[in-house]
Amino acid sequence: MRYISTRDNVIQYSASQAIAQGLARDGGLLTPYYIPKLPGKALEDIQSMAYQQRAVYIMKMFLEEFSVKELTDFANAAYGPDRFDTPAVAPVRTVDGNTHCLELWHGPTCAFKDMALQMLPHLLTASLAKTEEDKTACILVATSGDTGKGALEGFKDVPRTRILVFYPKDGVSEVQELQMLTQEGDNVGVCAVHGNFDDAQTGVKRLFSDEELRRELAGQGYFFSSANSINWGRVLPQVVYYISAYCDLLRDERIAPGQMVNVCVPTGNFGNILAAYYAREMGLPIEQLICASNSNNVLTDFIREGIYDRNRPFHNTMSPSMDILISSNLERLLYTLTQDPAEVKGYMGQLAETGRYQVSDKVRDKLQKRFKGYFCDDTQTQRVIREMFDRHGYLVDTHTAVAFDALSQYRRETGDDTPAIVASTASPFKFCTSVLQALGEADPAHGLDALDQLAAKTGQPAPAPLAGLRSKAVRFSQTVEKERMVDAVRSLLG
Ligand SMILES: *Cc1c(COP(=O)(O)O)cnc(C)c1O
Repeated sequence: MRYISTRDNVIQYSASQAIAQGLARDGGLLTPYYIPKLPGKALEDIQSMAYQQRAVYIMKMFLEEFSVKELTDFANAAYGPDRFDTPAVAPVRTVDGNTHCLELWHGPTCAFKDMALQMLPHLLTASLAKTEEDKTACILVATSGDTGKGALEGFKDVPRTRILVFYPKDGVSEVQELQMLTQEGDNVGVCAVHGNFDDAQTGVKRLFSDEELRRELAGQGYFFSSANSINWGRVLPQVVYYISAYCDLLRDERIAPGQMVNVCVPTGNFGNILAAYYAREMGLPIEQLICASNSNNVLTDFIREGIYDRNRPFHNTMSPSMDILISSNLERLLYTLTQDPAEVKGYMGQLAETGRYQVSDKVRDKLQKRFKGYFCDDTQTQRVIREMFDRHGYLVDTHTAVAFDALSQYRRETGDDTPAIVASTASPFKFCTSVLQALGEADPAHGLDALDQLAAKTGQPAPAPLAGLRSKAVRFSQTVEKERMVDAVRSLLG
């Protein structure tokens, strides 16, 4: 399996080159040359496997240079019982007859980012060895909250890596911030940025393309790498859980072999829903992909109109991991839909220059055939949290609530009640204050006290990694202006 850049499909890369490099030099995203098809009996075979084996089976199809033995070791380490609080790893919970919730937050940081970020360090260090890279990887991460903690936890004390996380000072929840500021490990750094997530992400991209800094670091034995979902090593482990969920539904006889399902995903950077799209391309029977957004509804408009326009107000919402106006992974979808790197390059050039592009009618039609876009605001998000809890006794976080709302809108609008898999992306305990308000608590507690309050109110215990934050010391306090992110890099490596 060869990989190409979304902006140039002549130069080809091996999987390990794609993962080690993170981003193509031309600014494009490294992407498989084609999507392999699941063999005829695959879903039947996978059904009886544990999650770890499912991951090996599927990832192997994209990673020919990696042996089954290697991948098995990675999967056992990444998804073991010391990391995940359920042997199912990514369990499916049936909410009603045709609505199934894929819980992706049973890992060490209680958000779906763990599904990929527990695997990525293994893939990256092995890729560095295969590409004979002898420098230390300096991993720069921009986070809207969950990626940062997931990456810190995945890379902590991994040999030959350093990791530095930038987060928007006022753009993450209190629990999320505390999770990052108490991070342990000798190779980690955390820095707040005055600005929003897009500022942090743009700043990281600028650091990546700063040739002078690159040379300076090379002199010190470092090179830049990425743990954001622009790295193929982040997207691939996410393909696994959609196939896994379908197999669970088959195994439990909730669906029949070959039966179509819809998938609904709360979306920010477009990584998670892109993985579902790739699962479909591999042959998983998925009919519609429902893209759920909060008030930062740039993707809803894009899907409906074929016009991507980030020139609009930025909203800080109670689903902060989706407060994003530049969805990086959309570029991979555009490549697949156009098969034309020059066309993709054109759109991305316009986005960088004017913040806007309009795709051709052909691309728009293809997009609309497969994707449906819906959004909801914070008031509606809280209403859904309350309803889910009252009706089903099921507590969901703010992001997952946005997805359930999108699914209801889709079903109301189309009358299509095909079984749906809703991706549940975070534990409700990561967003206690908003969830408590949703449940009618007018003056909810703050910080870690809110964990106890939510546990008492719902009768559900807070996940151990969050409850354990109380005994951890705060280790980081640096805040920089968005133009001065380079200072944080120098102080981490200096
Ligand atoms: C990152 C994140 C999202 C958005 O996922 P993308 O892959 O960026 O689209 C949604 N919900 C939660 C809780 C997240 O952490």
